[in-house]
Amino acid sequence: MDFGSELEKAAGNQVRKGEALRLHTTFRIGGPADYFVTPENEERLAEVVALCRRLRIPFFILGNGSDLLCADEGYRGVAVNTTAFLNGVRTEGRRVIAGSGALLGNVAKEALAAGLAGFEFAAGIPGSVGGAMVMNAGAYGGEMSQVVEWVRVLTPEGQVKTVPVQEMDFAYRRSAVRSNGWIVLEACFVLCPGEPERIRERMEELAAKRREKQPLSFPSAGSTFKRPEGYYAARLIEEAGLKGTSVGGACVSEKHAGFVINRGDATAADVLALCRLIQKRVREYSGVDLEMEVETIGGVECHFPPI
Ligand SMILES: Cc1cc2nc3c(=O)[nH]c(=O)nc-3n(C[C@H](O)[C@H](O)[C@H](O)COP(=O)(O)OP(=O)(O)OC[C@H]3O[C@@H](n4cnc5c(N)ncnc54)[C@H](O)[C@@H]3O)c2cc1C
Repeated sequence: MDFGSELEKAAGNQVRKGEALRLHTTFRIGGPADYFVTPENEERLAEVVALCRRLRIPFFILGNGSDLLCADEGYRGVAVNTTAFLNGVRTEGRRVIAGSGALLGNVAKEALAAGLAGFEFAAGIPGSVGGAMVMNAGAYGGEMSQVVEWVRVLTPEGQVKTVPVQEMDFAYRRSAVRSNGWIVLEACFVLCPGEPERIRERMEELAAKRREKQPLSFPSAGSTFKRPEGYYAARLIEEAGLKGTSVGGACVSEKHAGFVINRGDATAADVLALCRLIQKRVREYSGVDLEMEVETIGGVECHFPPI
């Protein structure tokens, strides 16, 4: 049996060959993945991962693709997508339990429907539960570490284990998921009873703030750089005079300097070259090193632009 057929058997459904990753990232950038699979359930996901590990085929987990810069050349391996099937959300008393592929917006909707408060901060983050556990996603004073009770993960050895929040090592934009090579299967959020009207108002208020401050009409991956201790990346970029600076189709947003946007025809190489330019200019101007928040997939080549 060839690898594609083995993969199909493990995933429980069709494998797409050469699927463009740009279709699955909010940046709308990224060439073809050799294989693209959407495992039907957790067991299938575990089988796909075990197969890739056994045959030493590279793979990565693709949530909602809202924090990724995928190479123009694509990915030589298997993109394992969670959002198609592993996206169930259920409520048990004060707890909302969600599959790794559930979108945070849908978790927020479920919390609202159950009259549970505390998840409003995450309603507008366009990621999946799995991606949010990796990044300890947060906004407007809230972050995952404040609402998670436990996370169920698949270990590199193929064991399923439930990790209590105390062992998640949540910190600014990181957690124990990546350092341990875990794959997130499910997370449990513990929330507080609240007034549905108040919860809805708070969500709408935060959504309005996002629309006002962020360039949501352009494809992007959100904040391109992490917040350096004691500074705001967007302010440093603006102070260095970089608003509106572009390389090819990639541009520093005029609306929010912390966002690199795709004006329509940006390549991954454009974005990365612009990021290197931003890092250089900010270092020269204020002496601060900006670290990428957006993750690169597939060996993105940087052709540094002439300055
Ligand atoms: C317009 C916009 C606004 C944003 N605003 C915010 C914000 O306010 N706050 C914030 O924190 N972020 C924000 N982001 C960034 C992004 O939405 C978050 O980082 C989100 O948590 C990423 O989730 P994802 O499912 O899209 O992950 P992906 O981009 O698909 O993947 C990110 C990483 O997580 C890994 N991963 C995904 N699922 C799993 C899994 N099940 N198990 C193990 N690893 C997994 C991937 O392999 C990859 O390494 C924004 C992005 C955009 C485009």
